[in-house]
Amino acid sequence: MPLLAEYADATAGPQAALYPFWTLQNNELWEVEGSDALALTSGGRRPSLATLNEANPLAGLPEADYDLLAKDPELAARIASSLLVRFFPDDVAAVTHAAGLSRLLAGGIDLALRPLAGEEYPDRTAIAQVYGGNGVGGITPIEDGILSVFSDDKGPYNDSRIPGTDWIAYTGDGLNGDQKLVGGNKSMSVYQAEQRALRYWHKPHGGVFTFESWVVVVQCRRRWGIGENGARRQEFVWVLAPVHSPLRETWPHEVQEALTAGDLTIHEDLDLEAEPEADVAGSRDARTPMEQYRRLTEAARRTEAKRTTRSKLTTVERFLRSAAARNAVILRSRGLCENPYCLGHPMERTDKGAPLLEVDHVNDISRGGADSPETMIALCPNCHALKTRGSGRKDLRRQLLKRARTLHQAFSEGIEL
Ligand SMILES: [Zn+2]
Repeated sequence: MPLLAEYADATAGPQAALYPFWTLQNNELWEVEGSDALALTSGGRRPSLATLNEANPLAGLPEADYDLLAKDPELAARIASSLLVRFFPDDVAAVTHAAGLSRLLAGGIDLALRPLAGEEYPDRTAIAQVYGGNGVGGITPIEDGILSVFSDDKGPYNDSRIPGTDWIAYTGDGLNGDQKLVGGNKSMSVYQAEQRALRYWHKPHGGVFTFESWVVVVQCRRRWGIGENGARRQEFVWVLAPVHSPLRETWPHEVQEALTAGDLTIHEDLDLEAEPEADVAGSRDARTPMEQYRRLTEAARRTEAKRTTRSKLTTVERFLRSAAARNAVILRSRGLCENPYCLGHPMERTDKGAPLLEVDHVNDISRGGADSPETMIALCPNCHALKTRGSGRKDLRRQLLKRARTLHQAFSEGIEL
């Protein structure tokens, strides 16, 4: 009772303590001795506090459960620590001590933090076999009830690290049609509002699923995207910040700061009218590539004009709003590496037939390079590496900047080079 008084929701009055005592036995997780004989209130749902005080019944786990836990302290510790991490993430140490669990959990709170960062599984089925869960949903809890999000580089979603940060842009739940704030997206908004950590799993191209990190949701955005059926639709982007554990005291300062901002509004990026990849290839859009280029360049300018403060959230905002500038450059490239001295594989395509190009800010974005197509260039992976790490990068950078300006000028004026 003192534990309930201290850690249960005090605003719920005496029922707050009565509720778990009685409800758990309704759920057969807990047995109250002689419960059949106790008189229930007129509503018939529970005995009155006076009745319980008078009978003063013993209560505890069902015998089979008790035996199981008594025989297997590691299992008991794992369950206890999971419950602590799930329901008392801000008070784990205090509740552990107050509930007399310190010895059982000595050094064992880590059990609740499993999977450990870096744990690998060949596929979702293997994860479900070890940790439960449905093995399919992109946003779904595993057996301890804590939400997991799964990101597969092969698709169907387009998730990414936000350059210049370790934060992640995670596409919401829903394969086709406009995404709604239901199902997995609803769960994400609840975790965001409650500032609870969830698990982030990632599968790189040709790799296996890895538990990469705990993350917290720092922002929600909405943008145009492409459904699995190839149709344009609105989708959510959840901005996730990695944290070391679900225990808040371990979260980096910048994450706490972003959360303190407490911004639960949905940031709309729908004004950007990002061009679908298929349209970039020119199949569906009736406008000429030059007209599209001018329109995207304009959208990129509007974004640039909105730049204000310098924080991680600004970097996030810039990256997510720079789709227009990137798409403009891809359009201008006509699917070919824009380095005039390219010796790579300029015609290579992905499985989906998209050009294998990386859009680069010739002047590094972290040093203030603008999201403007005239200072950006589409490069094949080889040229991108030469420009970033090659010994001749200084000269190459100068040549690429000149090339980007020439191409931009020509394309804006409708001149074929
Ligand atoms: Zn190239």
